[in-house]
Amino acid sequence: MTLPRPAPAPLLLLLQLIATATITSALASGQIMNNTQAMAMALDVNEIPQRYDEAQLWRIYNISEAMQRQVPVGQVLEQKFGGNIWKENSKFLDISIGKEQLKAARSFLDAQRLDAQVLSENVQALIDEEHLDGINATAPEQGQRSKKAARSSMHWKDYHDLETIYAFMREIRSKFPNIVRLYTIGQTAEGRDLKVLRISENPREYKKIWIDGGIHAREWISPATVTFILYQLMSNWENQPAHIRGLTWYIMPVMNPDGYEYSRTTNRLWRKNRSPSRRSNCLGVDLNRNFDIGWAGYGSSTNPCSDTYRGSSPASEAETKVVTEFLAKRKYNLEAYLTYHSYGQMIVYPWAYKAVKVKDASVLQRVGNTAVQRIAQKTGSTYQSAVTHEVLGIAGGGSDDWSRAALGVKYVYTVELRDRGTYGFVLPPKFIKDTALEGWTVAETVAQAIG
Ligand SMILES: [Zn+2]
Repeated sequence: MTLPRPAPAPLLLLLQLIATATITSALASGQIMNNTQAMAMALDVNEIPQRYDEAQLWRIYNISEAMQRQVPVGQVLEQKFGGNIWKENSKFLDISIGKEQLKAARSFLDAQRLDAQVLSENVQALIDEEHLDGINATAPEQGQRSKKAARSSMHWKDYHDLETIYAFMREIRSKFPNIVRLYTIGQTAEGRDLKVLRISENPREYKKIWIDGGIHAREWISPATVTFILYQLMSNWENQPAHIRGLTWYIMPVMNPDGYEYSRTTNRLWRKNRSPSRRSNCLGVDLNRNFDIGWAGYGSSTNPCSDTYRGSSPASEAETKVVTEFLAKRKYNLEAYLTYHSYGQMIVYPWAYKAVKVKDASVLQRVGNTAVQRIAQKTGSTYQSAVTHEVLGIAGGGSDDWSRAALGVKYVYTVELRDRGTYGFVLPPKFIKDTALEGWTVAETVAQAIG
């Protein structure tokens, strides 16, 4: 389903001003605000792009000591100081704090004897840089007029909206009708389609590999990488080695389309989906805390306003439910589950929900190490392969753990793409190609391991 394009920001702002002025004068003259006016106001507020002017991105070390004193630093900064947690692991916490709360948040940290390293002085500047970089990279060269090609407008010089990604998937299907199948496996709370491509010369017999991206809305490099993997496969399918052509590939570039679009139009740092809650005005569930594995355990929240809200029950969300059902039906021969996230440059494997390694951890570590070495050779980037709970902390409800626990998938990896905190989620488009190549390298290495 195609949704209406949101009005450009200045128009919304104008509408908002008019609505506010109307309501203010109505209130002043003693009239009561009617439902339509109230709704118009509420809707506009939700759609005005969120700005992060002079918000800072901090990295705070040694939070485990404060935790031992029963002070959950991330939670306090999130709930009391409006902080936005970017990343929390066993070593540090990355969190952005709005301009107005900087002083108070600093005082809180001082009282806890914690220090914050400032990764960015102005988060909005990062967002603006990302935006401009994309415009510059895609601007037609001087003297050249932009060509309106009939083909899909896919490229990896910039990030794309959902419709461009879906058009690219349709194009692949129509170019390779004999080996590609395009599934619409369900719809989101806001009515967007959930789409999966299957590429296979022999779906009944070949071993299967699943690849997904975009579980978390703001991790734009993830759908960019997964579409690049699709491109790498299909642009040269006839010449791919046997270990690639001999697999059935399931590819879902955007598991959270509602969140993805919201992060593009309204709030760049949005993480969850956009489903409403019965007991709160806060929207959204963290889909990677909503899978039916260790669901009520550590690392997720019962608070609908939290960025790691786990939902009302396991697989309560349409996205989680349909992916779970789709994969459960195809678990025969399903050998690999790869899920792409950002950021941190890591290739991690189960478990995440408990502090235990899987029995075949040595195999997963070896394949992970091979991918790390190949990435270093190809792009020079340093990745690390490890058990999830050791480097990212314990968290239940993740898709990776679920695929191993429920379906017995062997090669299960969560890939945390670039970077390591300079730009975080707001990775400028000039880094897309190399990062996507790193993501492809992991997929290629795992395909080879399946053999
Ligand atoms: Zn993520």
